[in-house]
Amino acid sequence: MRRPFIAGNWKMHTTEADAVALAAAVREQTAAAACDVAVCVPFPHLGPVREALRGGHVRLGAQDVHWEPKGAFTGEVSAPMLEDYCQLVIIGHSERRQYFCETDEWVNRKLRALLASRLDPIVCIGETLDQRRAGETEAVLERQLRGALAGIEPSARITIAYEPVWAIGTGETATPEQAQEACAFVRRILRELGGPVADAIRIQYGGSVNPANAAALLAQPDIDGALVGGASLDVAQFAAICAAV
Ligand code: 13P
Repeated sequence: MRRPFIAGNWKMHTTEADAVALAAAVREQTAAAACDVAVCVPFPHLGPVREALRGGHVRLGAQDVHWEPKGAFTGEVSAPMLEDYCQLVIIGHSERRQYFCETDEWVNRKLRALLASRLDPIVCIGETLDQRRAGETEAVLERQLRGALAGIEPSARITIAYEPVWAIGTGETATPEQAQEACAFVRRILRELGGPVADAIRIQYGGSVNPANAAALLAQPDIDGALVGGASLDVAQFAAICAAV
């Protein structure tokens, strides 16, 4: 069976001191959780947070990666660089697609780079409100998923995060039924692409997850965890979400 997986995406928040304190508190307060736990932190905090998490159960992630191992790419960070610091990387987040022009092709290149490294990918996909209203949700998810996985053998190292853009940071959560429907669809496509491995790939829901709505979302058969934004910056809320598994 798939072990539930709750990851925090801290986005562009925290000072170094905040990050270390928050990571240490997450380590302490999620020690009894019946799920895998991770925090995905800003690049400059990876080193200090790695020390705060060393030897514990909380896995560490970054929030983006470049697909080339090295080269003249000012401002970018590669998978071989990140391997020294963390175990996971988020790619294809809607904020990167929206504000930094990230395309499915880039996500595909980043996914290849991660699978060739020791880093496990969390691949984000999700529709906008306009796309949902136009009845395009499944078409968008299928395009993003097939784009990300083009030419790649699906692997259980991959986590898919279904994050409807309209639910991110808005306080408006997808209902458990809406989220389950989308995640079941994602698994159907994964099955078409990879056969039985689709049943081993974890699918997270993301978008305004909080302690009040987590249990109902996580109880859905195709939702294997959560990618938590805002609530992951508050250790009490994040620990409560991990305890809701
Ligand atoms: P919120 O939980 O703040 O809505 O953010 C979700 C998200 O984007 C996680 O990657």
